Amino acid sequence: MPGEPVDLSRHGGIRREALVVGEVRPIVHVGDPVLHHPCEPVTRFDEELRALVDDMFASMYAAEGVGLAANQIGVPLRVFVYDCPDADGQQHQGVVVNPVLELPEVGERRLDPGDEGCLSVPGQYAPLPRADHAAVRGLDAAGEPVTVEGTGLLARCLQHETDHLDGHLYIDRLPAKRRKQVLAAYQSAMAENSPL
Ligand SMILES: [Zn+2]
Repeated sequence: MPGEPVDLSRHGGIRREALVVGEVRPIVHVGDPVLHHPCEPVTRFDEELRALVDDMFASMYAAEGVGLAANQIGVPLRVFVYDCPDADGQQHQGVVVNPVLELPEVGERRLDPGDEGCLSVPGQYAPLPRADHAAVRGLDAAGEPVTVEGTGLLARCLQHETDHLDGHLYIDRLPAKRRKQVLAAYQSAMAENSPL
C-alpha cells in the first residue's frame, strides 16, 4: 500500500478473535508508570506465561493492533506479541520473550519515513523515521530460541514493541514540539470522550 500512512494501532482486515482463547484486558495509556519504566526479563516459562501470552493476543486483536507489549496491559515483563504484514504484504504472527533488537549498521540503514501510532496513545499518529529492516532475537513462550526478522511495517513493529519493553513510547522519539502536540491532541480527544 504505497503512500498509505503506516499505522501500528489499527490494521484493517485482521479478525482472528476466533483463534484466541485469552481474555481481553484493558490497554493502559500514556502516563501510566508501567509504560515508562523498563520491564523485567522473564525467568519462568510456565502456565502463567502462556496465559499472559493468550491474553495479550486477545487484547491485541480486540484493539485491532498489529503488536502489543505486556506492559500495555499492565504487566511489566519483557514479552510482546505481533500479527503484522511485512513490506511484501506477507503476514507474520508470534510472540517474543526477552527480545534483543538488531538493526543494520547506521551506514547501511535505510529509513522508512512512515507515520506511527500506538494503542496506548489512541487516535494519534505522527511521522517517525525507522529502520526499514529489523531483527529481534529472543525466546518463545516455551523458552526456545526464536528470531524474527522483517521489513516494512513488521520492521517498525519490532522496533516499536521493543521500545515499549524498554519503557519508551514512540512519541518519546519525536521532536519535543511534535510530542507535545500529539499529547495535547490525545488529551483533548480523551476529554471529549471520543478517543476514536
Ligand atoms: Zn505501542
